[in-house]
Amino acid sequence: MSSTEPSVFTRIVAREIPAEIVFESDTVVAIKDIAPKAPVHLLVFPKTEQYRDVTELAAGDPTLLAELVGVARDLAAQHMGGEFRLVFNTGESAGQTVFHVHAHVLGSPDARGHLSEGSLAQ
Ligand code: AMP
Repeated sequence: MSSTEPSVFTRIVAREIPAEIVFESDTVVAIKDIAPKAPVHLLVFPKTEQYRDVTELAAGDPTLLAELVGVARDLAAQHMGGEFRLVFNTGESAGQTVFHVHAHVLGSPDARGHLSEGSLAQ
């Protein structure tokens, strides 16, 4: 992080601001997105904010990236019938607003859910 302010996700990890935490380990946290874009919309992120985006995480700690993906899989099994869309917005022009790497895990409560086919945006 180039910013000196802690990210919103670091503040959630520190319980400085509230969130619906659905998973927490020593290294990874998952929460419900405050402004869901799908029937189920979770965010999975490392506790460390040292990586701004998925490209930095992949280069700096691929094991941690794999851990995020594993947490997304497990949460999708619990909350979305096992099938899900995984999105890493990377850069401002791609819609990234929080520069503490995070995965959006999007889906429906059951495997016959209704994310639009052929659309990444909705
Ligand atoms: P991005 O735009 O890819 O950086 O994603 C940031 C996401 O964080 C957005 O989907 C926001 O709705 C979500 N978000 C921001 N603040 C909070 C918060 N306090 N609790 C839960 N989700 C949040």
